[in-house]
Amino acid sequence: MPAARTITALAKMLRSGETTSRDLCRETIGRIRARADLNAFITVTEDAAFAEAGRADALLSGKGGGGATTTLTGIPIAHKDIFSTLGVRTTCGSRMLADYTPAFDATVVANLKAAGAVTVGKTNMDEFAMGSSNENSFFGAAANPWDAGTVPGGSSGGSAAAVAARLLPAATGTDTGGSIRQPAAFCGITGLKPSYGRVSRHGMVAFASSLDQAGALTVTCEDAAVMLDAMAGFDSRDSTSVDAPPPCAAGSLDQTIAGLTIGLPAEFFGDGLDPAVAASVQAALAELEKAGARLVDVALPSSENSIPCYYIIAPAEASSNLSRFDGVRYGFRAGQFDGLAEMYEKTRAEGFGAEVKRRIMVGTYVLSAGYYDAYYLKALKLRRLIADDFARAFEQCDVIAGPTTPTCAFRRGAKMDDPVAMYLNDIYTSSVNLAGLPALSIPAGFVNGGGGELPVGLHLIGPYMAEAKLLGVGHRFQQITDWHERAPPGVDGG
Ligand code: GLN
Repeated sequence: MPAARTITALAKMLRSGETTSRDLCRETIGRIRARADLNAFITVTEDAAFAEAGRADALLSGKGGGGATTTLTGIPIAHKDIFSTLGVRTTCGSRMLADYTPAFDATVVANLKAAGAVTVGKTNMDEFAMGSSNENSFFGAAANPWDAGTVPGGSSGGSAAAVAARLLPAATGTDTGGSIRQPAAFCGITGLKPSYGRVSRHGMVAFASSLDQAGALTVTCEDAAVMLDAMAGFDSRDSTSVDAPPPCAAGSLDQTIAGLTIGLPAEFFGDGLDPAVAASVQAALAELEKAGARLVDVALPSSENSIPCYYIIAPAEASSNLSRFDGVRYGFRAGQFDGLAEMYEKTRAEGFGAEVKRRIMVGTYVLSAGYYDAYYLKALKLRRLIADDFARAFEQCDVIAGPTTPTCAFRRGAKMDDPVAMYLNDIYTSSVNLAGLPALSIPAGFVNGGGGELPVGLHLIGPYMAEAKLLGVGHRFQQITDWHERAPPGVDGG
């Protein structure tokens, strides 16, 4: 099997003179065009990418005026189309923003640019990051490279499909209830959701501000660490950004896991979990045990309430955040209307898709004077209980493990008429956002998905700000297994 073209591998090739950033860029854009069937990209920024790659090549060859290089210098990456990009349209997967071109870069975009990464485009996503299948995109569904009849997961589905199909080594994503980890699991790649506050939300189109967090989708944990180190950092433009010491994740990957305690919550292995997925996860845990980890039982009793709690808090915040799309301040405005009120109504009726409207209506309802106490306030209390469970569990273990999702990737269209079935995809992931913790999904085997083999994700959850520890455990797992190196049928590893 050819070695995967990871960030780390490409960085070496750039330094040995085996390739240049411009060559990588040309190749990447060729791959993106050749896999138009995946619909992984909304926008490809070819000209800007070549200009950035040229600057990176000058730096790498020492002719760039002596600027410093990083592991990311000259590496092609893509951004989920939720991140504002200066001069490049940022749609958030919505008709509402289909023609919106920001006048600034999101902090994540700026940080990765400063590290020398070359942006080749913006990836497909569920509208306003609401969804688990990428089928809610105004720009059409994206496909899972393992089986085009299945979904890549969502909402960062385009980023996951692009990395899984080896179009490029890394892409950014956002995770409000599972949107980095679930598509990473469905596409057989690594997905990191950092601690809340670790990575700036400035310039990220807001869905549910107390839950949203930016992270990365990569082939390996080693690369996820490189991405996190570049993305993270205090930002005075995000009032919830945390002024913490840098994660230094890439430098602390080589940890032994001998003596590490892994907590297994019974709640993550109960009803609704596909037995084949459970078997893969158990086998992965046995590998970690063989490598010296100790498996212990822990309890997360309130996690059974995480989906109802999430589907009150997230829509509540979304209904407020999305009020700014009024036909005046950003993007789309209805063509025909009679007066201001009708302009608002028609703009929002025509600009938003069905799922977004459903969330706005639920959110407005749970925040309304008559129902605030019964729903929103109650959900806030549940949120506290969920966070307390994790705090107690981490007194007994270093990390928590389980499946990322209850099933592997499902067929396109299978859950579009059943929102609750769609929401249940996040049954293991959403509690992590409610508690603000970091978590990782890594490839841990395959199950027979009907049409062929489909990937399974192992979910690792850590204490607040413990990304380096999580990535170290994931890295160890990737040293003793090769699930992450498997590429989808027809895709060469390199
Ligand atoms: N699937 C969840 C939702 O639709 C999570 C989305 C996300 O994490 N952005 O809200």
